Amino acid sequence: KRDTEQEGGEIYTSMQQGTPNILVSVRVRPLTKKEQEIDSRSLVHVLDNNLVVLLDPTGDINLPEDSFRSNRSREKRYAFDLSFDKSATQEAIFEKTTKFLIEGAANGYNATVFAYGATGAGKTHTMIGEADKPGLMLLTFEEIFSRIEILSLDRHYKIRLSYLEIYNEEVRDLLTSSNENLDIREDSIKGVTVAGLSELMVTSAKEVTNHIRSGNKRRTCEPTMANETSSRSHAVLQIIIEYKDKASGIDADIISGKLSLIDLAGSERASTTKNRGIRLLEGANINRSLLALGNCINALHENSEKGSKIFIPYRDSKLTRLLKDSLGGNCRTVMIACVSPSYMSFEDTHNTLTYANRAKNIKTNVQRNVVNVQYHISKYTAIISQLRQEVTEL
Ligand code: ADP
Ligand code: MG
Repeated sequence: KRDTEQEGGEIYTSMQQGTPNILVSVRVRPLTKKEQEIDSRSLVHVLDNNLVVLLDPTGDINLPEDSFRSNRSREKRYAFDLSFDKSATQEAIFEKTTKFLIEGAANGYNATVFAYGATGAGKTHTMIGEADKPGLMLLTFEEIFSRIEILSLDRHYKIRLSYLEIYNEEVRDLLTSSNENLDIREDSIKGVTVAGLSELMVTSAKEVTNHIRSGNKRRTCEPTMANETSSRSHAVLQIIIEYKDKASGIDADIISGKLSLIDLAGSERASTTKNRGIRLLEGANINRSLLALGNCINALHENSEKGSKIFIPYRDSKLTRLLKDSLGGNCRTVMIACVSPSYMSFEDTHNTLTYANRAKNIKTNVQRNVVNVQYHISKYTAIISQLRQEVTEL
């Protein structure tokens, strides 16, 4: 337990002090009962809290798992900043991916946490959760409220909440019953705002729970063939933390930080769900926002890693326009790529890991390199010894 806590601490400091500001993590959920009944083997394994191994079942569906594990050419390996296996609790995910962002938000910095993945992969569980297993949205508020008490000694704090969905490239308030399509605006002082969006003052976790719950009921969910209740919209919860220094009197500057927590729509491709008509259009629009998000993150990465001056295509989708002041620059971005370990989800899992891998921190840490190098060396040692064998046989 100690070791993992220390590891979390290191990530905390490196995210606080240096560039780049993007943390890419993967969460592998447990097999559901239904999946277990069909096949209890798991295609995805997590090693050392950062490596994800994806076994490739193509053509060999009847082989026992052990023979996959020993057949290295049939597996893909990905290294991420953090990887969580099925045993990771909601609290552990919160501790490592989100808790450290609160300090920044309480001091005027924006940050974004989003869950990416196919329908059924665990995004809503991670971001919203269940009554007995609250997700990141509620855990974040609980932490903010408990921390504000201490911070309020010399500052006046106000916490506000907004909750919206982006469905078919239209923005809707989830905190009112109005179905109006809202405009995203950019203001040089206030940053990005959504005209007419409710922003509710909150003072307790209980109030927040009620708002999130009623917001979720208003979310657009439609059945598709891929899953019974696939979320076709991106749900964006924004927490605005504002403060004034008590010592500076009434005309003190208001400092404001914004934390965006996002349950993205399912990333499965429109073609795999055999959707037609409106469903197909939705699929295209969902992909447009997810593609734009990926493109912005990649461009931001290039700029922060290599000092390039790539244009960031925020304007390509509603989602990225909304996040323009919350991705890049001083803002920290955390991606939680959710995957199912089931055989039936192989293609989705592969696509999600590929997307996450593209977005990840290019500057690899030493530990990760060692692991990768050993893996490659072991491959080459095997080839070399085989060549030796052939040479001696000659
Ligand atoms: P998504 O929002 O990505 O479509 P869900 O969060 O709804 O997926 O998860 C699909 C199912 O798997 C739900 O029944 C959920 O409760 C369950 N589930 C997801 N992640 C976990 C987890 N880490 N532990 C236990 N159950 C999970
Ligand atoms: Mg969902």
